[in-house]
Amino acid sequence: MKIDALVVGAGPVGLTMAAELARYGLSVRVVEKAAQRTDKSKALVVWSRTLELIDRMGNTQAFLDAGFKVTGANIEAGAKQIAHITLDEVASPYPFALMIPQSETERLLDEHLQSLGVSVERSVELLRFEDGVDRVVSTLCLPNGREEIVENSWLIGCDGAHSTVRHQLGMGFEGDTLASDWILADVHLKGVPRPSEIAILWHAEGVLAIFPITATRYRVIANVGDGSGGVKNDPTLAEVQAVMDRRGPGGIIASDPIWLAVFHINERKVKDYRAGHVFLAGDAAHIHSPAGGQGMNTGMQDACNLAWKLAMVQRGMCTAEPLLDSYSAERGAVGEAVLKDAGRLTSVGILSGDFKQSIRNRLAPLIFGLAPVRKAAAEKLTELSIGYPKSPLHVEGASVHGGPEAGERAPVRAGEKPIGAGRTPRFALCAEASEGAMRLIARYPGLLEAKPHTPYHSGGVWLVRPDGYVAVGARAGDWAHCEAFLQRIAAK
Ligand SMILES: Cc1cc2nc3c(=O)[nH]c(=O)nc-3n(C[C@H](O)[C@H](O)[C@H](O)COP(=O)(O)OP(=O)(O)OC[C@H]3O[C@@H](n4cnc5c(N)ncnc54)[C@H](O)[C@@H]3O)c2cc1C
Repeated sequence: MKIDALVVGAGPVGLTMAAELARYGLSVRVVEKAAQRTDKSKALVVWSRTLELIDRMGNTQAFLDAGFKVTGANIEAGAKQIAHITLDEVASPYPFALMIPQSETERLLDEHLQSLGVSVERSVELLRFEDGVDRVVSTLCLPNGREEIVENSWLIGCDGAHSTVRHQLGMGFEGDTLASDWILADVHLKGVPRPSEIAILWHAEGVLAIFPITATRYRVIANVGDGSGGVKNDPTLAEVQAVMDRRGPGGIIASDPIWLAVFHINERKVKDYRAGHVFLAGDAAHIHSPAGGQGMNTGMQDACNLAWKLAMVQRGMCTAEPLLDSYSAERGAVGEAVLKDAGRLTSVGILSGDFKQSIRNRLAPLIFGLAPVRKAAAEKLTELSIGYPKSPLHVEGASVHGGPEAGERAPVRAGEKPIGAGRTPRFALCAEASEGAMRLIARYPGLLEAKPHTPYHSGGVWLVRPDGYVAVGARAGDWAHCEAFLQRIAAK
């Protein structure tokens, strides 16, 4: 039997992908070669924008209950404060970073997926596939070693940095491995000066970063070598303590390690996230420095971008193009930006040499002293400023004075059911319930929600996508641009 979508990999991205497709009513299988979920904390932060998207999935409360809220990040160099970035003023119902180990994120996503009637098939590996005219034929290796042939309309490789799907597509994973060695420790700490904030400490010998996970458990990371092969083994607790004593403010005591590891930073990305009926998402498509904690969030947002497009095509609501091709253009641009920003943040943190460090330590407080810079940094970190300004889906000529413009995140109004929640992907019209609005809804009943939402201000009308980004922002009464957008994507 042909299924709609085969998702390969049940990390956070594959689980999000499968859950979103299942929510929209597609038949989905998720295969995972590992026998069990990870028990590692890996990605710790779920940012505001991801929480807003999880809200559409119907699962935010479970995350809020399991996570630890952090509302600020502090950068220091010795005793000098370089920057203090607060998150509690960002315009989101979730004005904080939710700290939660990746193992917990995966548990919550897995439970959510099961509530939608889909279970991860563990110890099942995708061996190979062939993309045809209207289907992909995939070969799986089952737990008993036997092979199974599956026919699927779409194949989505969420199979991580060493992606089988990417390898088989022959796609390059262009980029570099940074010349640095890093240690990671999940430990209990006492004596942290600001226990509920992220601390980035710039020191002459490198950077030390401390992230709260709970009231007593923390993630500590530090660069400890130049990547020339000298650092091979996981650190001991004593080594972690020694780095903290040298680079930290003093008085922080580490105990009860949960995970001690050495890691290296890769910065790589594919050019295209799509080839025919096959898509890549998450680490399979992009990997970067953990600075800024954007990796997993970016991957989960890849999934949210792709899911409604695939669902609308598969359900016969929209034509395949240009919707499906827009996935790679939109998310590729985001991946590129994340790669650059995370790389920059890492390079600034590990800058070496007295002269360069002294310039950095003098300039950075001046830059971060400016309120607009701090605001922009908070919006970038929380991923609220992510958008698709160059999306190929945009219609020419539409614009709305005072925004939000096409490609921007539609403001999320607290207490309102988010646009895109529910089991059928639909666009929403944000406009006064005028004759023009109701006429447009009547012309596209399959694509538009039945009732308009309140406009963002009186000067405009907005067509908002199921993932909460503006498809069209136009002057009030300008239905022609909204219609042009819908006409282009509607199934003929
Ligand atoms: C030490 C460390 C610290 C990190 N810290 C952060 C952080 O603070 N913030 C952040 O955002 N990110 C962080 N990351 C990155 C984050 O963990 C990844 O971005 C995230 O796991 C990517 O999710 P994914 O689902 O794309 O891939 P993965 O989590 O790698 O999942 C891919 C899955 O696919 C499975 N698979 C692979 N091939 C096949 C196959 N052929 N058939 C079936 N299954 C297959 C694998 O077994 C795996 O379970 C960190 C990573 C590491 C290692």
